[in-house]
Amino acid sequence: MSDLSEKNVVFVTLDSCRYDVARGARIPFITSIGELRRARTHGSFTVPAHHSFFAGHLPVVLEEPLADYYSEAACQLWRIKTGRTLDEKRRFELLFAANNVIAGYRALGFKVLGVGGVSQFSEGSCLRAYFEDDFLYFGANLDEEPLRERDPKTFPLNNIEVIVRNIADHDKWFLFVNCPETHYPYDIGNGISDDVMESFSILKGCLNLREDATVPKSLGPKLLDMQRIALEYLDGQLGKLFELLPKRRDTVVVVCADHGENFGEHFAGKPRWGHMIPTKEVMEVPLVIGQIDGCERVDS
Ligand SMILES: [Zn+2]
Repeated sequence: MSDLSEKNVVFVTLDSCRYDVARGARIPFITSIGELRRARTHGSFTVPAHHSFFAGHLPVVLEEPLADYYSEAACQLWRIKTGRTLDEKRRFELLFAANNVIAGYRALGFKVLGVGGVSQFSEGSCLRAYFEDDFLYFGANLDEEPLRERDPKTFPLNNIEVIVRNIADHDKWFLFVNCPETHYPYDIGNGISDDVMESFSILKGCLNLREDATVPKSLGPKLLDMQRIALEYLDGQLGKLFELLPKRRDTVVVVCADHGENFGEHFAGKPRWGHMIPTKEVMEVPLVIGQIDGCERVDS
């Protein structure tokens, strides 16, 4: 990608989306952006994963063939100047004289807008601080997501017109969207079946760090399916977002999960549910990086 400082950015995190779910889902829009690859994230839950991303460290692909931006060993997309001497042998695309990517884009004159998301982006959260006042949060102010059906209005990409209105008048922009649909309870606002709700009641209101062996094993495949349906819905909504976004400039697009999820897989002798556990299922995430070409606006 030549001269990244001249391109707009859409950075999407599919919260909690497992790699195998993305691989098995029908997501034509996301896979039209670039190659879907298996990457390893840097955090087993939302907060450390996003701190890493905003420091310029996206999930990383370790398998050959290494590709620019997918693997830092090949070329890093965004790099933060931390004060130490730069290793001249390490390649990067855009170097910021700031201590995070968002501040870096703001210093380059970009309109920055964050949109979310899961509760870690609610008012007063540490992740929200990166965006100062440039954030649209559609969810409730909660410490943690409960295992109950959500209101469709709380999903950012059900509010596309509001998002686009906030950046449409700006020439250069950096748009970050955290998508909660793939986070538990995995519904898209159209109900949760009685049998899943019954299993959720055993998990006592929350999924993270649960090790309950009395949860029926059949819950795992059901949650895999619910997360796949949520992702396929998101793919359609992302397509709609890009239809409405201004296309005056080329747009770099990064789509990844912040972490995955355990759906009852055993680790160290116990079934594991949710995230905040650095297991294979949690640390492997989907990653897609590409560019959508812009076209010069023709004023009549
Ligand atoms: Zn998360």
